[in-house]
Amino acid sequence: MILKYMDAHGHVNFVAYKDDRGETIKRSLDEGVWMAVVGTQKDTSKSAVELAEKYKEGVYAIVGLHPIHTDKSFHDKEELGVGGAEFTSRGEQFDYDAYRKMIENSKVVAIGECGLDYYRVDSDGTNLKKQEDIFRQHIELSIESKKPLMLHIRNGSGRSAYIDAVKILSSYKSRLTNIGDVHCYTGSYEEAKGFLDLGFSISFTGLVTFPLRKSEAKGREAGARSYDEIVRAIPIERILAETDCPYLAPQPYRGKRNEPLYVSEVVKSIAEIKKLELENTREQILENTLKFFGL
Ligand SMILES: [Zn+2]
Repeated sequence: MILKYMDAHGHVNFVAYKDDRGETIKRSLDEGVWMAVVGTQKDTSKSAVELAEKYKEGVYAIVGLHPIHTDKSFHDKEELGVGGAEFTSRGEQFDYDAYRKMIENSKVVAIGECGLDYYRVDSDGTNLKKQEDIFRQHIELSIESKKPLMLHIRNGSGRSAYIDAVKILSSYKSRLTNIGDVHCYTGSYEEAKGFLDLGFSISFTGLVTFPLRKSEAKGREAGARSYDEIVRAIPIERILAETDCPYLAPQPYRGKRNEPLYVSEVVKSIAEIKKLELENTREQILENTLKFFGL
């Protein structure tokens, strides 16, 4: 099968696929769609690596500690959008050595998802300090291992997590050789500019495939604007496509469980929005993604 797409960020390691994980991955690989499977804490990072090891090629792992998992917190279905289930994060310390050991595996292609999530902020800001500390440790790990960062950045509480992340990353500028990607981008162009200047790429999900009506938007979708403007503003050479499955299924699968195969719908929408020829767009985004992961 000829390689056509690579889903830059998804979670087929999550429980949503417990009954048909193998079939889901096969459906995708059979159609020439590779995937990066992303961990969000130690156990899901380990399962991402184990999954990647089962396949000779096409399935790769990203390991790290998601900012919402740095603290004990409850996350409801609405917050995660369609395809999510409610869960309680137990709060995890960043075990630098354990992650360093995981990334020695050649199937691990990036570090994350890590970053800053301001959706829920403690009144005294203690969880923000913790998020920043853990984010900095991921940056150190990226520098040490020469693997790129997969960032999760989310604004909230009237503050721009994007601007803060750029500030933090800029303090490592001379040492950061293997840059990163800003996953599920929902910021403005002004916020994206800082990442572009640092050499980062920006990735889009199924959110770009539907025109949002505020009245029906829930959870992550509610924070979203029309993506057309931002998709047009980011140079095609700096764009990656992702599903963030099981969440955020693109049209025409909106509301259902998402999967890596559907990344083609995201690429299609990017081509339409940017008024580019589909085949060239597909090739360019695939090239960007393989280069980003060093594949
Ligand atoms: Zn994710």
